[in-house]
Amino acid sequence: MTDLNRLFFALEIPKARQQEIVRWRAAHFPPEAGKPVAAANLHMTLAFLGEVSAEKQQALVDLAGRIRQPGFTLRLDDAGQWPRSRVAWLGTRQPPRGLLQLAAMLRAQAARSGCWQSPQPFHPHITLLRQTDSALRLPAPGFCWECPVTEFVLYASRFSQGRTRYQPLQRFALDKES
Ligand code: ATP
Ligand code: MG
Repeated sequence: MTDLNRLFFALEIPKARQQEIVRWRAAHFPPEAGKPVAAANLHMTLAFLGEVSAEKQQALVDLAGRIRQPGFTLRLDDAGQWPRSRVAWLGTRQPPRGLLQLAAMLRAQAARSGCWQSPQPFHPHITLLRQTDSALRLPAPGFCWECPVTEFVLYASRFSQGRTRYQPLQRFALDKES
């Protein structure tokens, strides 16, 4: 049997920023608001690849390694919720063009490599809470956190001992921000 890895490309959120987000969340959401995502799991997905063989993983890594694109600054200044999927998130009011281009390229490469891609448009977000309470009212963010983005990361998602952990497999540098 071929070994499969559950893979996705994402932007890493630096540790200090993850802690800041968690402090903001704790101050603004009561425990019954939903299930908080662990600090180390706060990330922004660019493209979900699904369960992938080692061979396909290598092909996807080769394609991603050919991406030449300048870095960009992500401004986290928005928060919202999707009642249907019962998720609360942090995001950006004005996604930088570089972010949209990067996600579009990775999604196109994934689709061409045979990974199923959602027809939904890309909504850049960091999931904060899952299984949110239907009565949840989101506070205005009241911040503008700047995250310089200099790379993107291929992660494996692994579920063990009752927890999902993301393991960074490979980092891909972006060019100097123009
Ligand atoms: P868990 O599903 O174990 O509760 P998780 O959702 O964080 O935790 P994964 O399901 O492995 O872990 O997902 C990894 C990343 O890919 C997450 O950002 C998730 O939102 C995204 N993702 C998962 N499934 C899909 C999908 N079918 N389409 C698009 N993105 C997805
Ligand atoms: Mg999931």
